[in-house]
Amino acid sequence: MTLSHTLEQLHSEMRQWRQHLHQFPETAFEETQTAAFIAEKLKNFGLEVHQGLGKTGVVATLSAGDSDKKIALRADMDALFIQEKNTFAHKSCHDGKMHACGHDGHSAMLLGAAKYLSENKNFNGTVYFIFQPAEEGRAGAQQMITDGLFEQFPADCVFGMHNFPDIPTGHFAVKTGAIMASFDCFEITLTGLATHAAMPHLGNDAILAAAQLITAIQSIVSRNINPADAAVVSITQIHAGNTWNAIPESVVLRGTFRCFSQQVKTLIADKLSHLVQHICTGFEIDATLAFNPENAGYPVTFNTEGETAIALEAAIAVAGKEGVNTNPTPSMGSEDFAFMLQEKPGCYLWIGNGSSENSCLLHNPHYDFNDDILSIGAEYWVKLVDIFLGSKT
Ligand SMILES: [Zn+2]
Ligand SMILES: [Zn+2]
Repeated sequence: MTLSHTLEQLHSEMRQWRQHLHQFPETAFEETQTAAFIAEKLKNFGLEVHQGLGKTGVVATLSAGDSDKKIALRADMDALFIQEKNTFAHKSCHDGKMHACGHDGHSAMLLGAAKYLSENKNFNGTVYFIFQPAEEGRAGAQQMITDGLFEQFPADCVFGMHNFPDIPTGHFAVKTGAIMASFDCFEITLTGLATHAAMPHLGNDAILAAAQLITAIQSIVSRNINPADAAVVSITQIHAGNTWNAIPESVVLRGTFRCFSQQVKTLIADKLSHLVQHICTGFEIDATLAFNPENAGYPVTFNTEGETAIALEAAIAVAGKEGVNTNPTPSMGSEDFAFMLQEKPGCYLWIGNGSSENSCLLHNPHYDFNDDILSIGAEYWVKLVDIFLGSKT
C-alpha cells in the first residue's frame, strides 16, 4: 500500500475532525474542548499524551527504532473573535467566534499525520506533535516554551505549516530567512493642561503636540530605514476630548510596527522613543511610551537554512518541483511560531488553500479551510519525518 493511498484513506476522517473543530471554535487559552478532542484522538492512536503546557496545549510523543534524533511538528488550535457569515452545515455554533484562519485544518492535518505514523512506524527516532493554543495575538507558543515545552520535549528542530489562500490548492511556498514580520504595539500618553477652547493660552494643548508627533513618526520608515529593508509603522488609534469647547488634558495614541530584522526593530523602537521625548519636551507636554501594553509582541519568523532544505525536499516530494514556490515574498503578517524558531532551528512553510474566486483571505467571515488539502498537508508532515529521522535499520 502506498503512502499517499493510506493518507487518502484517512482523508474522510480528517475532514470529519476538521469540520467538527470548525463547528466548535474556541479562542486563546480557552481551547479546552478542542484540546480534549485532540488528546483523546492521540491517545486512541496509542501516543503518549501530555496536556497543560500553555494552559490548553497538547503534546504527544511517538518513538520508533533506536535513534535519539527528535523532530517537533506544530499546529495551532485557536479560533478568532469573528462572527461567521458562512451558511454551510459545519458553520460555527459559537456566537462571535470562528475558525477564520484555518487552525481547524492545521490541527486535523497534524492529527492525520499522527494517526498514519502510529500505524506505520518505519522511522528511526522520536516525533513530538505540538498542538498549541492562542496563536492569534496572545503568544501561546511563548507560553508553552515558558512552561517548559523544550525541556520536557527536547526536539532537535521544529516545523510549522500554515495554509495560505493566495497559493494554488496543495502547492507549497517556503524559503530560508525571514518569512514573516515581527509585530509590536505601542501606546503613547501625552499630558498637557486642560483649558477653555476660547482661552488656549491658559492651558497646554496635548492635541497639537500629538498631531506633530504623528507627522514626525512618518519619518521613521521614510527617512531612517534603508529602503531595501521593508518596515511599516502605523498609528491606529487616537483618543482625546469629549466636547466641542474644551481643550482636553491628555491624548492617547496607539499603533503598531512591523519589520523583518531585529536591527530594524530596535531602530524603530529607538526612533519612536526619541521623537516622543523630544517633540513633547519642545511642547512642554509630559509623555509616556509603553511597548506591547496589552498584546504580546512577536519576533521575526526566521527559517534556518538546513531545516528549510529538509522542508523543501519534503514539499517537492509531495507536490513536485512545479508545485513549490522557493522564493515567496515574505508576509508583513506575523506568527508566534517565531518564538519556537528562536529556541530551535526549524522552518515554517505555507500550503496553498486555493486561489479560486471563491477562496477568501484569512480572517474573512466567509473564509473556510479547504478540505482538499488535508491529506496533502498530512503527507508533507509524514515526508518530513521520513527525511529527518530516516528509516529503521
Ligand atoms: Zn490568523
Ligand atoms: Zn493563523
